[in-house]
Amino acid sequence: MTAVTPAAARRERILQEAVRQGLLDPEEALLAAFVDLDGVAATVGTLHDAFPGPPELPGVLHTFAAKANCLVPVLRELAQLGMGCEVATAGELARALAAGFPADRIVFDAPAKTRAELERALALGVTVNADNFQELERIDRVLARRASTSTIGVRLNCQIGGGTIAAMSTATSTSKFGVPLTDRGNRERLLRAFGEYPWLTWVHTHTGSQGCPLDLMARGVAQAVEFADQVEAAFGPGRVTGIDIGGGLPVNFADDEVTPTFSTYVEQLRAHAPKLFEGRYQVVTEFGRSVLAKNGFLAAYVEYTKSAGGRPIALTHAGVQVATRTVFNPDAWPLRIEAHDGNGTAKRGRPVRQDVAGPACFAGDLLARDRALPPLEPGDLVVVPDTGAYYFSTPFHYNSLPEPAVHGVRVLADGRIDFTLIRPAQDPWRLSDRDGMSRPPREPVGAPARGAR
Ligand SMILES: *Cc1c(COP(=O)(O)O)cnc(C)c1O
Repeated sequence: MTAVTPAAARRERILQEAVRQGLLDPEEALLAAFVDLDGVAATVGTLHDAFPGPPELPGVLHTFAAKANCLVPVLRELAQLGMGCEVATAGELARALAAGFPADRIVFDAPAKTRAELERALALGVTVNADNFQELERIDRVLARRASTSTIGVRLNCQIGGGTIAAMSTATSTSKFGVPLTDRGNRERLLRAFGEYPWLTWVHTHTGSQGCPLDLMARGVAQAVEFADQVEAAFGPGRVTGIDIGGGLPVNFADDEVTPTFSTYVEQLRAHAPKLFEGRYQVVTEFGRSVLAKNGFLAAYVEYTKSAGGRPIALTHAGVQVATRTVFNPDAWPLRIEAHDGNGTAKRGRPVRQDVAGPACFAGDLLARDRALPPLEPGDLVVVPDTGAYYFSTPFHYNSLPEPAVHGVRVLADGRIDFTLIRPAQDPWRLSDRDGMSRPPREPVGAPARGAR
């Protein structure tokens, strides 16, 4: 057995206390999620420490990619820790504003921004990164009608290649994101855009997420810096004020070690994109997974255990509704599982290979296949570490499975564990507008009400 890490010991303590306080209960709270707010603060601290200040970088704004965990109290916490927020939809923008991010610390990146969304963002003064030439024209038309305090950039696809997960790779030659810079004529056309649009002052790139090697990401940033230098050579120094280098730092899902670190990435940036550190450009970053993943975990009860074809199977309450990517693409998104007893204490029994299944009605709803774990029994708890980003915060409504409660956790100075409710559990018996309950049963859909005044 591997040694117990401080992180695993901390999860165990939190779990025991959660059971004691009834936040996990075999009848009432079958599944719950936890965000370690001390851990989040520590991670944000390492991010702030990793990047240099002046004279190398005149200014750095670290934004959190909201899609990684869009729960408003989590965003509020990040706002209070001095981060900005990267949003990709109107819904994420609404949540970032509700969390208290000032407009000038919000960056709106989306490949399909509508006219109304652009008008709103520009009126609010939110930073906007345009995805393509048509969007640049659209922004120009909006700005012709009303001035804006927004910082405006354009996203480059440096087309330097992908990582190990195709769906996470955004700098392939045919990626849907940004202006493909190496396609014939595009570099010149984008340079002309900088000549034509005085409001265009930033360059944005995001090479990809999980599965992209650090040197690939750093080389993507180098391409963006080179393009910014080209704009400056053409139109004078100061023409580009900053470079948004995106996010994408991968996360280690294999154990509790935090690797790679933000500092390692900054070393790679120094090696591949040294011109970023010459004090000429401000920098924005957009990390998501690397800020939250290791600071969250799920816990679910084992309801039954059985054996099929010689394979032990534990039927648990965590599956596709909270681990969507892992269930549909298990090879790309493996998750660790830890076995605990009903009191939350880690089980130390001799490992047996078993499947850990979720509650949904399709055969593929498995958190782990053929995984060596201490034998699970009904009433035990399974813990799923590293799920603070893109898991329970992004639930999938298959089978009308309810969204679990999410609890914020802090360990107080006296050692007590303090929980705060981030999101209440959904009650499966309570239907809402989302279930089509807003319409009375016999009203014809879409017909105007007759005789309405
Ligand atoms: C998803 C995304 C991010 C965040 O990626 P992570 O892998 O979570 O760090 C940042 N910027 C853009 C444009 C994105 O689409």
